[in-house]
Amino acid sequence: MPLRFFNTLTRQVEDFMPREAGKVRLYTCGPTVYNFAHIGNFRAYIFEDLLQRHLEYRGLKVDRVMNLTDVDDKTIRGCRACGMALADFTAPFKKAFFEDLDTLRIKRADHFPEATAPEHITRMIGMISTLIEKGHAYRAEDGSVYFRIRSFADYGKLAHFNPEELRDGVRVRNDEYEKENVGDFALWKAWDEADGDVGWESPWGRGRPGWHIECSAMATGILGPELDIHCGGEDNIFPHHEAEIAQSECVTGKKFVRLWMHCRHLQVEGSKMAKSAGNFFTLRDLMEKGWSGREVRYALISVKYREPLNFTFEGLAAARSALQRLDEWTTRLQELPKGASGENLMETGDAFGEALDDDLNISAALAVIFDMIRTTNRRMDEGTLTPGEAISLLKWVKGVNAVLGFEAEAGAVPAVVGELLARRAEARAAKEWKLSDTIRDEILATGWIVKDTKEGQKLTPAPRGGA
Ligand code: AMP
Ligand code: ZN
Repeated sequence: MPLRFFNTLTRQVEDFMPREAGKVRLYTCGPTVYNFAHIGNFRAYIFEDLLQRHLEYRGLKVDRVMNLTDVDDKTIRGCRACGMALADFTAPFKKAFFEDLDTLRIKRADHFPEATAPEHITRMIGMISTLIEKGHAYRAEDGSVYFRIRSFADYGKLAHFNPEELRDGVRVRNDEYEKENVGDFALWKAWDEADGDVGWESPWGRGRPGWHIECSAMATGILGPELDIHCGGEDNIFPHHEAEIAQSECVTGKKFVRLWMHCRHLQVEGSKMAKSAGNFFTLRDLMEKGWSGREVRYALISVKYREPLNFTFEGLAAARSALQRLDEWTTRLQELPKGASGENLMETGDAFGEALDDDLNISAALAVIFDMIRTTNRRMDEGTLTPGEAISLLKWVKGVNAVLGFEAEAGAVPAVVGELLARRAEARAAKEWKLSDTIRDEILATGWIVKDTKEGQKLTPAPRGGA
């Protein structure tokens, strides 16, 4: 069966073939580094990780770019509020982002370009100049440059709307009075006082790039004018990706992206994640509550990317027990008495891969795994599973883990300790110190020492034996 994915551009599931045989050029919008990424962002990054790993599982070579947005309104506001230089303000969030990727076992992209890198700023300025020359952009009086959406007949093709609707009955906001059309978007924003010392010189005066041109410049600069796949969360469809298409295609004259893939937003306990609603979680918040990166990964990957995912603590607990089941089964297979390895091998089939070929149908893929676990556990209970079959199954699950990344780490914290940590975090939040100490001792009895640090509870393995 060929690979098939839903294309936001055509609203259809289509067969996928990269332009160059065997090689996929993939661009994924990365984080704005003004804060720690939240678990909604990680739903998007984990969906993209699943996509990349599955393409690789199918033998394709993936060249992937994930940008870091390190200059925009939010990063500038943040550094000004702290009285810091922009680069000093964003540096710790970049570092945290990479740590979080590792915690969640998200494969590193091949390139992580930063918008403020001189070569990318130069490329953005070059693209804007070309757009002005070709009549697709114009300079406003204050030195800002806008894209003229009227100049691009395809504008609206990704989000599936008619740009005429943007013009009717919409009042142009005062601060945008210089725009020809309400839908025109900024390619270059002229410097103003709120920008402090953030700014670059350009043919139109001092200023900074708009967010959309950042991605167009980094994508085409690294991957060339024609990408195979471009991903993001659903909020990116409009205006961000619509604008990327307009800018890139007007500069290069080529079709920018063949396949657009977007994941639905993560909801938390049934509603939008918001700091004010108290349901806003970073990965670090969940680790502090005793959940592991692997468990969060499972919870975020286990619902198909195009379906709404409601994040709940019951969902995390279900992820924990599913992984426990997988671990127990794997251990059981490993502990089966070894026989001659070449005998009685098992045909494990490709149902897992075929489920993912079908627009990353993860529910079907997980069903294949747990069916396999159920039937072979039964055979191990009966004592009829041969060592050769166990070897085949271990090889199969290795392939599964190359895509899903669910393997247990050597020396990993067992799930039961995770549960104890979670209970201890609750006890401490409720200032029940005695209970907290009792749980600490229970954790010690399992071979782990828990310490309370500024970043929360930290585990280290207890020294074994004698002393
Ligand atoms: P940002 O840092 O806001 O630019 O977002 C980075 C990525 O996370 C983008 O691809 C967004 O579409 C995606 N994203 C943001 N919020 C959510 C959410 N609640 N669920 C899924 N993806 C999201
Ligand atoms: Zn982007």
